[in-house]
Amino acid sequence: MESPILSRLASHPHRRFNPMTREWVLVSPQRSQRPWQGQEEDVPPDAPATYDPNCYLCPGNTRAAGLKNPAYTETFVFDNDFAALKPDTPADEIEEKGLLFARSEAGRCRVVCFSPRHDLTMARMTVPELQHVVDTWAREFSELGSDPQIRSVQIFENRGAMMGCSNPHPHGQIWANETLPNELAKELAAFADHRRLHGATLLHDYLELELERQARVVCANDHFVLLVPFWAVWPYETLLISRKCVSALDELNNEERTALAEILRQATIRYDNLFRTSFPYTLGFHQRPTDGRDYPEFHLHAHFYPPLLRSATIKKFMVGYEMLAMPQRDVTPETAAQRLRDVPARHYLDTQPPGPVA
Ligand SMILES: [Zn+2]
Ligand SMILES: [Zn+2]
Repeated sequence: MESPILSRLASHPHRRFNPMTREWVLVSPQRSQRPWQGQEEDVPPDAPATYDPNCYLCPGNTRAAGLKNPAYTETFVFDNDFAALKPDTPADEIEEKGLLFARSEAGRCRVVCFSPRHDLTMARMTVPELQHVVDTWAREFSELGSDPQIRSVQIFENRGAMMGCSNPHPHGQIWANETLPNELAKELAAFADHRRLHGATLLHDYLELELERQARVVCANDHFVLLVPFWAVWPYETLLISRKCVSALDELNNEERTALAEILRQATIRYDNLFRTSFPYTLGFHQRPTDGRDYPEFHLHAHFYPPLLRSATIKKFMVGYEMLAMPQRDVTPETAAQRLRDVPARHYLDTQPPGPVA
């Protein structure tokens, strides 16, 4: 049960603390007390064809660098032709009076095509198809992570034009760095402190609390839980947490990978159903650093950061106060979780007669 204090907080401005990053978010629920409009604009899906001869990700097509994609049938991974990080970067460093500091950064960038079908999204893929994606991510994490030059492997997907993704072909990216990026470094510090003080991982303790409260849980299966974190910044931000304390995808067995595929499908279907649109988001996994050390404090999880606020076209902007002071939201995380729980578990474009839902 949620505490009565939280019910009171839900009607006036308050700050919430994010223990994963140790930053604050301002919540102003009084600004969203108008009735839920939840516009379903029924923006017609721009239903692309299953194959696009001009798409550089479709099987058999030629990419910018003149390389030809194979006739792949499941997933396909290649080194990004316009990589932001390169393995052969020369080592250079500048440090002046403690004010100017720069260092060269080596790494690798890969593209992962989720499916040969140009027209699919995760929400429209089957569980076995999604499991190929999960298996590919796990394999890439191990392979890139075993390179002594690589210390962190960031797997992510930018979905939708609103997120700056110009190609609808279902695909994600992997950027592997020589150093720890900011977000991972912040979490790692918080995770290490928590384990030292409390013995368990921060996300183990947090998940236990959320499962007891239920107010922010969206959906769950035997191995994963999707919830709107107490400190969510984006209106429909969610956190996907593994029930088992594993530090990366490579520690998941086959059954757990199937469960991950299932909950990714369920999460993306719920997002699509919320405004009856192909929901844009950034999805990314946070996993242990790959310097060969053990990280028992690190707990595998994924973040969904979707920009939509009230409809298929009205997005949240991080401007003004957010840029200058701290993030702010109107709808409470509890209300957002309720809305994601209340939408059907079956995709709105799925015309099949109702069957057993996942
Ligand atoms: Zn394509
Ligand atoms: Zn994280």
